[in-house]
Amino acid sequence: MHPKGNYTGEFESAQEEQAYIKEYDEECQICLEPVLANGKQFGVLDGCDHTFCLKCIREWRSTYDKRTSKKHFRTCPICRQTSFLVVPSYYMVNSGPDKDHLIDEYNDTLLEIPCKHFNQGKGECPFLNSCKYEHRLKNGELYTYPWSENKIVEGNWQEDVEQTLADRMGFF
Ligand SMILES: [Zn+2]
Ligand SMILES: [Zn+2]
Ligand SMILES: [Zn+2]
Repeated sequence: MHPKGNYTGEFESAQEEQAYIKEYDEECQICLEPVLANGKQFGVLDGCDHTFCLKCIREWRSTYDKRTSKKHFRTCPICRQTSFLVVPSYYMVNSGPDKDHLIDEYNDTLLEIPCKHFNQGKGECPFLNSCKYEHRLKNGELYTYPWSENKIVEGNWQEDVEQTLADRMGFF
C-alpha cells in the first residue's frame, strides 16, 4: 500500500491501485465526480483547502475566471480566496505541514524552469527576485537583481509555463 503523499502515479497491481483510490479519493467541487477514480489528478490550490480535478480548476482559471472582473482573478470558485498556484498532486492535502511540503516541492521544480521574461538576461523580469522561475544568464550564472530594485510583486505566475511543466512531468 502506498502511503498518502508517497505516490507518483505507478502502481504494482490493479488491486493496489483500487485500494489507494478507495482510501484517498475525494470529490471535485466543480464536476462533482471522484478525482482519482476517473483517472485524474488533484489540483491543489495554495490559498484554500477546496478539492478539484487538476483539469477542472485549470479550465476554470483559464476561461471563466479571465472573463470576470480582475477582483476575481485567480480565485477559488467556491470560497473566492486567491491562489497563485495550482499544484498537480495524486493526493489531496489540506492545510498543514503536508501542504507546505507539496507547495515547497512544486516551487523548487518551478525554480528550475527558465523565466521567459528574464530570457537569459536579454529581458527584464517584472517580478525581480520574487520571481518563481529561474533567472540564469547566458553564461550559466544565476542572476540576482540589486536589493534596491527588489520588491514583492503580486501575481507572479506563468500559466503556460506551468502547463508545459505539467506535460513534461506526465500530468494532464
Ligand atoms: Zn472535476
Ligand atoms: Zn476555496
Ligand atoms: Zn522572472
